Amino acid sequence: MFDTLSDRLSGVFDRLRGRGALTEDDVRAAMREVRVALLEADVALPVAREFVDAATEKAVGQEVLRSVTPGQQVVKIVHDALVEMLGPDTAELNTNVAPPAVIMMVGLQGSGKTTTTAKLAKRLSEKDRKKVLMASLDVARPAAQEQLAVLGRQVNVDTLPIVAGQNPVEIAGRAMNSARLQGYDVLLLDTAGRLHVDDALMAEMKAVAAASRPTETLLVVDSLTGQDAVNVAKGFAGEVELSGVVLTRMDGDARGGAALSMRSVTGKPIKFAGTGEAMDALEAFHPQRVAGRILGMGDVVSLVERAAETIQVEDAEKLAAKMAKGKFDLDDLRMQLQQMQRMGGLGALAGMLPGLKGMKGAMDKAADGKALVHLEAMLSSMTAKERAAPNVINAKRKIRIAKGSGRTVQEVNKLLKMHQEMEGAMKRLKKMGGLGKLAAMFGK
Ligand code: GDP
Repeated sequence: MFDTLSDRLSGVFDRLRGRGALTEDDVRAAMREVRVALLEADVALPVAREFVDAATEKAVGQEVLRSVTPGQQVVKIVHDALVEMLGPDTAELNTNVAPPAVIMMVGLQGSGKTTTTAKLAKRLSEKDRKKVLMASLDVARPAAQEQLAVLGRQVNVDTLPIVAGQNPVEIAGRAMNSARLQGYDVLLLDTAGRLHVDDALMAEMKAVAAASRPTETLLVVDSLTGQDAVNVAKGFAGEVELSGVVLTRMDGDARGGAALSMRSVTGKPIKFAGTGEAMDALEAFHPQRVAGRILGMGDVVSLVERAAETIQVEDAEKLAAKMAKGKFDLDDLRMQLQQMQRMGGLGALAGMLPGLKGMKGAMDKAADGKALVHLEAMLSSMTAKERAAPNVINAKRKIRIAKGSGRTVQEVNKLLKMHQEMEGAMKRLKKMGGLGKLAAMFGK
């Protein structure tokens, strides 16, 4: 996600940070590069222009130029502008109404609408403990209703029994009745898609909306279609009252143009991002975190949430306590190595941690099965004292560790370097002040 932009921007900022003082020309030149980076990421031209104009105006202010860390200030300004462009706030899903809360899913065929409906149902039932009913109103595509029923069984969510011959409005009515009578909190309506935005589709959507009075109308669009996705959203928004957008296939979208321009162009917030085919590959869209990730500042909060789901609570608490002090020793690294496997590999972690983005490739490699066994062997060959205070590991100890684990001294060095990088990242985290929140979340 956003790899193109992220790489380009980190190049621009590295050059800025390398300088002691900045002139107005330096800042303007950097901002021109930011603009090119945005356009390369397929951001709509007017959005890129507005972004750069606003950011430049702030960045050439005296405060920045006189500051002792002008480069950092510029990064902060671009960060804030990104948040503004993406958000600016996390758009929550509104389901706290007199039940059933109706969520109408709309979108073109193939956008991932049915998959997203099931993912959202799973999230609402498992995470938010809601009693959820799904109904497919797609009578145009053969087997569409069965597809939703199959997914429903997969995610353990009820689907409305299929009755042949009913039209979408009739199905919606029946679904509303069932939901009321059987005490469902949320009703998800998966409407029919079409190949293009056309009159018949819009008429059907409006009729369903009039009959079911949805609290949320979510448009599902494929992020891979870039600016087309934004245009589709504009088309839908002109016809029905959309409450938000779900961008699918973000996992394959290196450019992110749709995500970056959606809010500015359509005025509609992105509420969720689809990040894979699996039923749990749906993330709430947090502009702050996404902006942080794009700028390589790390998405610590998402990381922690993900960790909290997979890591044993006691381990997490221990780690949080240490992290809060900016400490991260080799025992922690060892625990991480074991846990990370379950969280999608070290590479995924590196991508989210500040300053570690560049190490992503290396860590992906390091986390493959065999390499992990080697790392574990080296860590086991160390004494408890060495793991707790790695700086005691001198040349002689390195030779002993290498021998004991059947690895080379170079490999021991590599392991120590990896630890140092991570320790550095933890220290930066602490400085960033994000740890209060982090510790609080772990401490729960
Ligand atoms: P619909 O026609 O809009 O209902 O589309 P479907 O829900 O049937 O999805 C079409 C295909 O896209 C399926 O193979 C899904 O598994 C896939 N898909 C949906 N969302 C995502 C996503 O976020 N990432 C990836 N990689 N695939 C997705």
